[in-house]
Amino acid sequence: MNSVLAGLPTTVFEVMSRLARETGAINLGQGFPDDPGPADVRAMAADAVVNGWNQYPPMLGLPELRQAVANHYQHHQGLALDAESEVMITSGATEAIAGALLALIEPGDEVVLFQPMYDAYLPLVRRAGGVPRFVTLKPPHWRLSEEALAAAFSERTKVVLFNNPLNPSAVVYAREDLELLARFCERFDAIAICDEVWEHLVFDGRRHLPLMTLPGMRERCVKIGSAGKIFSLTGWKVGFVSAAPEILKVLAKAHQFLTFTTPPNLQSAVAYGLAKDDAYFEGMRRDFARSRDRFTEGLRSLGLAVLPSEGTYFINIDITPLGEEDDVAFCKRLVAERGVAAIPVSAFYHENSVRNVVRFCFAKKDATLDGALERLAGLG
Ligand code: GLN
Repeated sequence: MNSVLAGLPTTVFEVMSRLARETGAINLGQGFPDDPGPADVRAMAADAVVNGWNQYPPMLGLPELRQAVANHYQHHQGLALDAESEVMITSGATEAIAGALLALIEPGDEVVLFQPMYDAYLPLVRRAGGVPRFVTLKPPHWRLSEEALAAAFSERTKVVLFNNPLNPSAVVYAREDLELLARFCERFDAIAICDEVWEHLVFDGRRHLPLMTLPGMRERCVKIGSAGKIFSLTGWKVGFVSAAPEILKVLAKAHQFLTFTTPPNLQSAVAYGLAKDDAYFEGMRRDFARSRDRFTEGLRSLGLAVLPSEGTYFINIDITPLGEEDDVAFCKRLVAERGVAAIPVSAFYHENSVRNVVRFCFAKKDATLDGALERLAGLG
């Protein structure tokens, strides 16, 4: 078969997870926690399956969840949203991103992408007829620069797709970076699709700043969040989209013909979860930060060059000091010879321009992290 999609390789997350299953490796590749997620939220979903409504919910999402999303963002991020006209529920953040690209791009429009980028972005942009323009971010700081933005934006720029906190780099962009990006969006009249699924996973006292809250950006942002990331329930695929009414109306047209709805039971459980108190979210951050520190110290004591992790549940190492030049070959050997699966970060660059960084997911039990460290002993 000859089509854009037929020519694509299988996503690196699936490839590495399959390799891990086949070889019995400890899987620190694909990003998912080994925590089962909050018991009360799961119990709510179970109860809603047994006793609740199991037919199509409203196309834009259960009213109680849309309101819970608006309340949640007001409380945690000072963002005032009208649940009726500015919030929609999708089947995961990936559907929200795909729908936004389909809804906002006409063939030939330019889309600014920041690499490293999540591997779904580029195929979705191309399939929507968009012409990608890349801003390349490099380790160890991964910061935005005026020159790089100036080279990527043009009069044809329609959309910017920006992930903050950034997977896989684990950076949390500061106000100055966001202000710079906002200036370019305004100057070129571009809409920013903001993949903010890691918004709650920011460490060391940092606060997540939604691009939508910057001056001039309220009407030109599509903010995307994910219950899977917030509650460590990655299989649930419940996403939320927030945008000004005029934009949301168009996004709803894409959503209605993609998935139309999302399981109602999961939606009501997520509505319950989003209303949890601050102690829950702080505790979650503390637990993740503790795992990050444990794994960082372990990697450092093995002599590995660890890059800072400000947010997300990922941590990267620079493999250059190991004399390695090819992250893919390195990860293949890591699975085969050490029994540890990781992700080569070059998979997040369209021309694989950065090949010296390898990503580990630290959202695992202490015993799992310690087991992986034991297997990596002698590497550094
Ligand atoms: N978001 C997850 C990661 O970055 C993977 C999701 C997937 O497997 N598609 O690892």
